[in-house]
Amino acid sequence: MTQPSTVALVRCESYEPEAVQAAVQRGLSLLGGVEQFVQPGETILFKPNILEGADPMKCIGPHPVVFEAVLEAFRAVDAHYTYGDSPGFGSPKGMARMSGLGKIADAKGVELADFVNGEEVAFPQGKMIKKFTIAKGVLAADGIISLPKMKTHALARLTGAVKNTFGCVPGFLKAEFHSLMPSADMFAKMLVDLNLLLQPRLYIMDGIYAMEGNGPRNGTPRPMNALIFSADPIALDTVVARMMNLDPKLVETCMHGDAWGLGTMKNYELVGDPLDTFIAADYNVNRSPLSTSTGIGFLTTSLMKNIFTPRPVINEELCIRCGRCIQVCPAVPEKALSWPDGDMTKAPVYDYNLCIRCYCCQEMCPAEAITVKTPLLGRLLH
Ligand code: SF4
Ligand code: SF4
Repeated sequence: MTQPSTVALVRCESYEPEAVQAAVQRGLSLLGGVEQFVQPGETILFKPNILEGADPMKCIGPHPVVFEAVLEAFRAVDAHYTYGDSPGFGSPKGMARMSGLGKIADAKGVELADFVNGEEVAFPQGKMIKKFTIAKGVLAADGIISLPKMKTHALARLTGAVKNTFGCVPGFLKAEFHSLMPSADMFAKMLVDLNLLLQPRLYIMDGIYAMEGNGPRNGTPRPMNALIFSADPIALDTVVARMMNLDPKLVETCMHGDAWGLGTMKNYELVGDPLDTFIAADYNVNRSPLSTSTGIGFLTTSLMKNIFTPRPVINEELCIRCGRCIQVCPAVPEKALSWPDGDMTKAPVYDYNLCIRCYCCQEMCPAEAITVKTPLLGRLLH
């Protein structure tokens, strides 16, 4: 039997800087110290989840206090540190500033890496994807320390360690993947390949306050009082699913990541504080069976899709008519959202026949106006 992966669970009940610093130090010590993950003279990229710059207590990305504590801990090794992410909308620099991480990085002398320009990288070993375009700032680094946030996600159930690596693909190219990989299953496989290519050395997840419900952008903050550390993204996401009282087998990135050798769902050792003290039985997350496991995965016609598959729905009262959902929609050859008769004073309308159910519109709506709903027949089937 191979050596088990280690997942460190560390209790931390507030964003009070001293408490967070102590928790980060403890988590890293439980994994053998920062020296396990960086050598002097290397270039190390911190990859926080900066889906969009916003008030840290909206729980869209790791809290600046966690980011600061991680940067501080790694100062023990004399290396060159950079950071960055490709947000879902806007510029990497602007979103880093709005998230509060930019200010911390500036103060610590950690420079923003290039997440605007990309370079094609061949990946012949990829199980499904044989080449990726990766941000130049990622390719310039010797290693990556990934900083995900504990959140729900309409397509992937949870957005954790594996999903955070998607931000290493520069902006507009991410949308292309959505249109090329319209099913959750294909999208999860792509994410596993991407992690196999980039292999972040360590994942540190901020779950002090997590997001439940309408994630990954418009959900509800919920205290989960945990920082979670592991070099194994599958073991980490499996533990996070268990904290959410979600069967990890419903997380397709875990299933494919386990099968393809990215990590393990079973052979891991938990260190730190006991898992059962973190489990939230009523965590608001999608627990319906996978479309692929219910036998409807092969039903690809528009009719079947419209009958069974959860669809995004706009609440006209909440919609502020910003048009962002139309802008980010990756459906081709035509967007699946438009202004009704060109009237921008009304909420956009969907063409569900064109919609590939990527949920980018729900993810990026700034007004919490879009939710994902399962049609009645789909609910009955599940
Ligand atoms: S992104 Fe949200 S607020 Fe903006 S137009 Fe679309 S539904 Fe309305
Ligand atoms: S309408 Fe929304 S869910 Fe459908 S393809 Fe466009 S962005 Fe994706």
